[in-house]
Amino acid sequence: MKEDIQRAAKSFKEQTDKFTEAESQAHFEIQREQYVKEYEDFLEHYQKDKCYLCGKPNSTISKGNPCLHWLLRRCKFKKKEFHTVYEKFDFYNISAYLRWVANAESGSKNINNLKEESSERKLFEITIEWKNIEWTLDCSKNDFEGHKGTKTDYAHWHFQMRIDGHQFINFSDFHIPFSKDDQLKLVLENDPDSGFHHTFGPGGQGMQERMDQLSANPDEFIANALSASDPEDGSVHMQSMIMGGEDGISGDKIDEALEMARETGKTLNYCFKTVLGGDDDISIATIASPADSVPEIAKRTERKRR
Ligand SMILES: [Zn+2]
Ligand SMILES: [Zn+2]
Repeated sequence: MKEDIQRAAKSFKEQTDKFTEAESQAHFEIQREQYVKEYEDFLEHYQKDKCYLCGKPNSTISKGNPCLHWLLRRCKFKKKEFHTVYEKFDFYNISAYLRWVANAESGSKNINNLKEESSERKLFEITIEWKNIEWTLDCSKNDFEGHKGTKTDYAHWHFQMRIDGHQFINFSDFHIPFSKDDQLKLVLENDPDSGFHHTFGPGGQGMQERMDQLSANPDEFIANALSASDPEDGSVHMQSMIMGGEDGISGDKIDEALEMARETGKTLNYCFKTVLGGDDDISIATIASPADSVPEIAKRTERKRR
């Protein structure tokens, strides 16, 4: 890791250590509000098939003004022009944009950033699907250190883009440099003591954030997931096991309890107990896992240098 980044990370931590609880809360609140505003602007344009960054329709391309909407490939964007995009927008800009379009289309279930499915050697490994496009953002610890003794001896990441399942940009095509700001954020995010977490705003959550919400507050999560209006419908697969009293539980009672949970937003446990007239013998275990429809992380094979 470059020394100046380490120094910047250290001073950030010292600063945040000095913040009072109220100050950090205010800091996060300002950041949140900025994201909310920007995301609203994004959505308004997105619904008209336009780009909020350049104001142009997504189907147009202005060579002199590289833009993130090119990555949607609704315009005649060529692979050899990709460098002009990443020279203008850094990793966090690109990530936020791709998460937002995927979320606007189908919620967090098309964003696989699950740590559990990512290799230990990686700083991140994220696959995002949007319509007929699949992007994968990939960085191993070696990439972040820079490939020593080569031309790519700088902190970088790799990018793959597929259109209709066909390769458009390969991982090996580009060694995309991180900005200073990217590096600082990544160092802090990977340091559990820093207390730093980048959220990417209201349209930014991927499957990892979904699973984090689940473990933080399982009852509320399950109640939300059961409500018919849940925009995140289908991102998490849930299976509940009900262990009933001596006589078992009739199908009618099960339907009644599920209906009640859906309508009232109360927990399954509560609804079953109510429907069964306070029968204390029942217990419910719910197992939640990412849905099968979540895209697999597209794996990059790193070639060994001789
Ligand atoms: Zn644009
Ligand atoms: Zn590399």
